[in-house]
Amino acid sequence: MALINCRECGKQISDQAASCPHCGAPLKATPAPQQNTAVDYQQQIQAQQKAQQKSMVKTMLFSTLLSTGLSFLTRLFYRRRF
Ligand SMILES: [Zn+2]
Repeated sequence: MALINCRECGKQISDQAASCPHCGAPLKATPAPQQNTAVDYQQQIQAQQKAQQKSMVKTMLFSTLLSTGLSFLTRLFYRRRF
């Protein structure tokens, strides 16, 4: 937790606060950085979604291979036994 200066009254307030306790000015109202953050956030989400899709494809491929291999091994095993 850090202390920042309120842009309205200049008093020190917590950067975790939603608004200044002295004058009531909202803290997260600086337009330009917020837009950049939103774009960064969207890009992050998109990257995360892409990574998730990739890992999902990998998981699906892996489980398909695994089940195919397992059934193959099971068939081989039972063929030898009976
Ligand atoms: Zn203030």
